[in-house]
Amino acid sequence: MSIVYLPPHRTGDLHYLKRLNRSAILEMIRQTPGLTRADIATQAQLTKATVGNSVQTLLGQGWLSEGELHKSSGGRPGRALHLNDEHFALLGAEVGVHGLRLVACTLSGNIIESHHEQVLPASPEATAHTLAQLLKELKARPSMADRHCLGIGIALPGPVDPAAPVLRLAPNLNWQDVRFLDLIRPLVPEATSIWLMDNEAKSAAFGELYFRTGNIPHSLAYVSLGTGIGGGMVTDQSPPQLSRGAQGLAGEIGHTVLQPNGQYCHCGNRGCAETLASGWAIRAALGIAEDINLVDAISARQHDEDVQYVLRRAGETLGILLLNLHHTQNAAEIVLGGSLVQLGPAFLAPAQRYFAANQNRLLGNGQKVRLRILDDATFVAARGAAAQVLATVIHGSNDLV
Ligand SMILES: [Zn+2]
Repeated sequence: MSIVYLPPHRTGDLHYLKRLNRSAILEMIRQTPGLTRADIATQAQLTKATVGNSVQTLLGQGWLSEGELHKSSGGRPGRALHLNDEHFALLGAEVGVHGLRLVACTLSGNIIESHHEQVLPASPEATAHTLAQLLKELKARPSMADRHCLGIGIALPGPVDPAAPVLRLAPNLNWQDVRFLDLIRPLVPEATSIWLMDNEAKSAAFGELYFRTGNIPHSLAYVSLGTGIGGGMVTDQSPPQLSRGAQGLAGEIGHTVLQPNGQYCHCGNRGCAETLASGWAIRAALGIAEDINLVDAISARQHDEDVQYVLRRAGETLGILLLNLHHTQNAAEIVLGGSLVQLGPAFLAPAQRYFAANQNRLLGNGQKVRLRILDDATFVAARGAAAQVLATVIHGSNDLV
């Protein structure tokens, strides 16, 4: 994996060069915890003095911590360097159709604090007010008192314009062209200088790759199974790169059409995958009201024939969707998350069976794409938005704090 050095736009600016070196060193340690100064000098082709000075600054600023002494074959033993998980906090939040989920994470992605608030769909303004209050409460918890907040990332249930922070459409909330950051930022003015927003499945995909430190796949597709169905595709670069498309629609797999004459979708088209396999479609098919928890309602009726039928049909649709995703994106790993994974084998097994039986038809070899189902995906998108904050800080052009 290569480190991307930011292009020096101010040639000869010593301050800027030092900033680049610190970013590169931080990124190396983030990807490979435990490196020593000598390892970094060799791998980054920097002088030992440059690495030593940069590491000293990063230790002083609270970015790094020193660990055990590593023996060396030739020179002096060196201290293992790690990200310092005690000094900073990254905040992430997800606006879901039926819930607001918030996390505070360390630099390594460990969750320090979290909160899940069940809500009913509301206007962008009302949602911003509720989320702002919850963010303030999270920041006020005792474990956050001595931490410096690096920024806040917000994941939203719809395509976000790649060129501007605008949520284009959230069909299951009935929101259109919402500048959500403009609504929430004035409500938490003291929080931080860095705010960002992205599509929830893209944030989740980003975080799933970014916070990994071993067995990092070449690329990863995240499928978000909740009230709607979303997708995010990320490739392993430094920082990881998300596929967005020209208008931010890349990954909107819930709105790929599987039945041209099928039922109307919330987007206005007919026969989208969401009309068969999403949380809202399952609710509609089984007559489960919006203010009742879907997973609880289904587990109470799990042996009913109609429930079995609807979940099996939804699972088979998901299998088709995964196969189409495999053939259009060919991610090295597909991760399934979202509240619907809690529906268990009645929903997931038909999808897994279909995918396993058909994924190798084109190549005919034994290589399998890993299909990973998260046990608990509650905070995946919020944590991913927090990961995007860290990537923005490390690879941005401002000073590192
Ligand atoms: Zn649709």
